[in-house]
Amino acid sequence: MQIIGLTGGIGSGKSAAAKCFKALGIQVVDADVVAREVVEPDSTSGALAQITAHFGQQILTDAGELDRAKLRQLIFADASEKQWLNALLHPLIRQSLLAQLEACQGPYAILEAPLLIENQLQQYISKLVVVDVPEALQLSRAMSRDNNSEAQIRSIMAAQVTRSVRLAEADFVLDNSGDLGQLAQQVTALHQQLCNMKLN
Ligand code: ADP
Repeated sequence: MQIIGLTGGIGSGKSAAAKCFKALGIQVVDADVVAREVVEPDSTSGALAQITAHFGQQILTDAGELDRAKLRQLIFADASEKQWLNALLHPLIRQSLLAQLEACQGPYAILEAPLLIENQLQQYISKLVVVDVPEALQLSRAMSRDNNSEAQIRSIMAAQVTRSVRLAEADFVLDNSGDLGQLAQQVTALHQQLCNMKLN
């Protein structure tokens, strides 16, 4: 399966672009969704049991699910705990991502990942598509979607690669500074290009 990466900063329009690809019949695997799946109680990964063994029952909600807010607090306060968690989860997420991508059908599949570059997922993709918007627009869209302050969005942006680094890595750029119709047009044109291209 040819895998095309789709990335962009928070609020750039990755989900909006992914929706356009899906409308064209292309299957999309979302790294954020997979990251949540691997810690679900019924996941075969065994991650939740290991997290509970490490942090204790306090890490579970009354319903027996992972208490994400509590986990975030614990790893925010302790870099070594964050490292432990990443060492556990990253390989499991990667394995599940790749298995889901392999099971996709069609001319190519999309791997949608906000931290595609940051988490070294480029080794698994043939081409990288970057959704790009000017920073001011990124901020205002992310703030109104999440009902978050500018400071909160800026702190998330600070943990991501810069716009220029992302653009330097891009094989294709979707300019999302226009409306959703303009984004859909660009995705349709890119889809044609990807279908016609012999991907390596
Ligand atoms: P990401 O997945 O990259 O974080 P989203 O696709 O969720 O970004 O887009 C961020 C917000 O901006 C969402 O509320 C989305 O509906 C809105 N949005 C995305 N693209 C456009 C656009 N071209 N015009 C207007 N709003 C947009």
